[in-house]
Amino acid sequence: MSESDTVWPPLSPIATGLSCKCPRCGRGKLFKGFLTMRERCDVCGLDFTFADPADGPAFFVLIFGCIPSLIFAFWFEMAIAPPIWVHAILTLPVIIVSCLLPLRPLKAWLVASQFRHHAGEGSLR
Ligand SMILES: [Zn+2]
Repeated sequence: MSESDTVWPPLSPIATGLSCKCPRCGRGKLFKGFLTMRERCDVCGLDFTFADPADGPAFFVLIFGCIPSLIFAFWFEMAIAPPIWVHAILTLPVIIVSCLLPLRPLKAWLVASQFRHHAGEGSLR
């Protein structure tokens, strides 16, 4: 039985996305850097060139991470008016963590969703 004949059960894009694993086998690593994708899965050999989430992860992080943390920062300044060093040790890390931490699992989730739903660029045949 060759690799292409192997039947892979469908995996949840959320589960494989949160764990940053291959959307087909759920075991191979998806990234070789912070956001750089591997060319193929180490376990099942799935070619990751189909994956193109573009600005999707950045959009979701901006809407659900960056803007709420900036709203918190403005509220914190208006309500308490702390010294600038408080912003440096509290507000700035909150903004950085809320923007960087979700990027990787969001990108993995979008790639897994693309794989699951066979998404790709539209074409005229
Ligand atoms: Zn795999």
